[in-house]
Amino acid sequence: MDIPLNDLSLHHAKIKSELNEAIENVIEKCQFIRGPEVDQFEKSFSKLIGTNFCVSCGNGTDAIYIALRTLGVKPGDEVIVPACSWIATSETVTQSGAKVVFCDVGDDFLIDPLKIEEKITSRTVGIIPVHLYGQMADMAKINEIKERHGLWIIEDCAQAHLATYSKKTAGTFGEFATFSFYPGKNLGAMGDAGALVCDDPELALAAAKFARHGGIVKGTHEIEGINSRLDGIQAAILNVKVKYIKRWTEERQEIASRYIEGLSELSHITLPHVHQGRTPVWHLFVIRSDERDRLAKHLKNNGISTTINYPVSLPFLPAYDYMDHTEADFPKAFEIQSKILSLPIFPEMTVEQVDFVIQTINDFR
Ligand SMILES: *Cc1c(COP(=O)(O)O)cnc(C)c1O
Repeated sequence: MDIPLNDLSLHHAKIKSELNEAIENVIEKCQFIRGPEVDQFEKSFSKLIGTNFCVSCGNGTDAIYIALRTLGVKPGDEVIVPACSWIATSETVTQSGAKVVFCDVGDDFLIDPLKIEEKITSRTVGIIPVHLYGQMADMAKINEIKERHGLWIIEDCAQAHLATYSKKTAGTFGEFATFSFYPGKNLGAMGDAGALVCDDPELALAAAKFARHGGIVKGTHEIEGINSRLDGIQAAILNVKVKYIKRWTEERQEIASRYIEGLSELSHITLPHVHQGRTPVWHLFVIRSDERDRLAKHLKNNGISTTINYPVSLPFLPAYDYMDHTEADFPKAFEIQSKILSLPIFPEMTVEQVDFVIQTINDFR
């Protein structure tokens, strides 16, 4: 049995005629930039998340950058980001001119709220919690810290469409929340796509202007902005797929439950830590093993694909050599990078496939 990490062709097979029709419709009308498809997606996505506004843009990385610039981040500022994430979270802080300040994570792979305050200086302006792998960070504690120090929050929800914390949806906690619709994300386009959501009309308007050359009315450029737009074709695809995201999320959750049940007795691996009161959406199912590389090889020999998200934690990437960080600065992030392994998880994964992965991990000696 060959089991991929994800299977996008299978994912699209069932809705292919709907997708083709949506794409043809855009071609027919030549509405390639903005247009009704984009408006419709912004409306339905903000409704789905439960925010007043959605501002679509080119990708999830741009969404973070647009949020940072809209909040007025500038050289001299400091922004706190978790040591474990994809580089987009920190890269955009540097792009905005501010200094990236990494904070170690906990056993749950998420920013450790107990370690945030020691990172705060008079220059700190905000925090970017990342709901990594699909489980939300500790937003109650992070919010307390934010209030105490007068900071802002940008939630990086790229891996957390519809995850919840105390029954509140990811994306409803910060000044801004950012989403990616990269094809492999829980809600994916067929190319690059992203969005920001927020409740404040002024912030929404300012973000939309910044993303569209500094003005949303033709010929008005109130400021200099960037060009970061959602294509009509990508919006049309997302309009089809957004109708299924709840079902796909439940399917991911069922697979994760089966993994947890089937693997819970094993002492040679550590299962992902799920907090009470949080509903993860399982963008990734990440286990830990002291013999990670040998386990990955064993799975590969049995036809099971795995990967490592991410092999090197952010502070230890060559891009951040200039910061001179040591293992001791981020002990958890350092420990995790040598032990984590992402197992296959995708909505179309069958019970037989899940059980085969469980059995194969059980057979590991
Ligand atoms: C995918 C991802 C992004 C960036 O999204 P793109 O659409 O690829 O630019 C940002 N943050 C995290 C945590 C991600 O996983």
